[in-house]
Amino acid sequence: MTPIAPDLPLIDLHRHLDGNVRLETILAIGREHGVRLPADTVDGLRPYGQIQGVAPSLMDFIAKFELLKLAFVDEDAIARIAEENIEDAHREGIHYIELRLSPAFMGERYGLHPERVLRACCRGVAAGTAKYPVRAQLIGIMSRHLGEERCWQELDAAITCMGEGVIGIDLAGDEASFPGSRFVRHFRRAREAGLRITVHAGEAAGPESVRQAVEELGAERIGHGVHAIEDPTVMALLKERGIAVEQCPTSNVQTSTVPSYAAHPLPHFLRQGLLVTLASDDPGISAIDLPHEYRVARDELGLTTAELRALQLNSVRAAFLPEAEQQALLAAARAAPHA
Ligand SMILES: [Zn+2]
Repeated sequence: MTPIAPDLPLIDLHRHLDGNVRLETILAIGREHGVRLPADTVDGLRPYGQIQGVAPSLMDFIAKFELLKLAFVDEDAIARIAEENIEDAHREGIHYIELRLSPAFMGERYGLHPERVLRACCRGVAAGTAKYPVRAQLIGIMSRHLGEERCWQELDAAITCMGEGVIGIDLAGDEASFPGSRFVRHFRRAREAGLRITVHAGEAAGPESVRQAVEELGAERIGHGVHAIEDPTVMALLKERGIAVEQCPTSNVQTSTVPSYAAHPLPHFLRQGLLVTLASDDPGISAIDLPHEYRVARDELGLTTAELRALQLNSVRAAFLPEAEQQALLAAARAAPHA
């Protein structure tokens, strides 16, 4: 029995498009463009692009992106990967997804400008949503470890592409070495432009990073926020302001953010009344999908059926969609329960 309620929409609000590249596609693009890959079979590539067991830290996890980045050779390859992300979402039974990516990070290897990368992603997502019944929006990421200057370029690209499917902006990467305080001006400009705000915080840094993201960066949602549990005043802040926490338990185990599923704070967050959502983070690197995370929530985190339903409902409420579209998603699922 699947733990996913068929009368509620299935939504993923935290998935990195550039962390979900099929090994088959890396191989195909590599062959087509004469890229030197570390192996010439899917099984040979697997240890380079997927986590085997657990990585010792977030930055060791991020090292897996190096293989995936070899596939971002040009705009057509990037558009293909974006389109395949929509196909993957459809196969998982997802009705609505917010895909995020760092255009400077994706464009780094082959010297593609962030705006060209983001436009290519928008094009691929549009092609995918024309083929499959999935609603999708994009979130631009500023990769904090690329520095403030590159982050301005990433923000400019996101603002430029707001009419093409980009709805929000995020801050990700090396949280421990690049605190959010360096990016206050970036977020002010993002808010002025009308971008919705989510921030990776409390993953590789402590609860003060979560507070900073909410109070100084204007985060409406927090990516992970796992360490918020260490400070009751930060927990209270998240609850009072209705800040959603995007929870990705398998990613947190694999990056050693938490030592085990049993130690994951998701059930505590939910029972404390936080707006908890469940998401996949980097399904390609983690070798998972969203239904897998729902099974984890049931079998490893011990959530009840009612709590699992709450995750699905919270994801509707926390989606960067107008209220009317949130209601439409709910009505569509009720009218035609999915498998
Ligand atoms: Zn993430």
